[in-house]
Amino acid sequence: MSTSTERNPCLACGACCAHFRVSFYWSEASAKGLPESLTEQINPFFACMAGTNDPVAPRCVALGGTVGAQVACTVYEQRPEACKEVEAGDDKCNRARARHGLPPLAPSAA
Ligand code: SF4
Ligand code: SF4
Repeated sequence: MSTSTERNPCLACGACCAHFRVSFYWSEASAKGLPESLTEQINPFFACMAGTNDPVAPRCVALGGTVGAQVACTVYEQRPEACKEVEAGDDKCNRARARHGLPPLAPSAA
């Protein structure tokens, strides 16, 4: 989910938070004050946002709302850097949107 702007399409989407495994070096969570209960250890070095490692129906536990309607990241200020890598309208964005039956966005839509 990309950064907040006026008329941000991410606020009516959330697909990338319910598609990719959002992983990061384990110490990033504590450094940002991200509650440990919202993360899942993958191996001795990496953790991920809890819920995003589900092979069938991944969805970050920090995502509030309904994908494709209205969503909000409940830990927006503490979210991992990996969350900022998906930009509205890029390839990853549109792959995630397609999984949820949402139409593609043009690059730089946010
Ligand atoms: S899939 Fe794209 S539009 Fe949807 S929340 Fe992620 S970056 Fe935003
Ligand atoms: S932490 Fe927030 S932005 Fe990142 S995957 Fe979870 S809900 Fe999405």
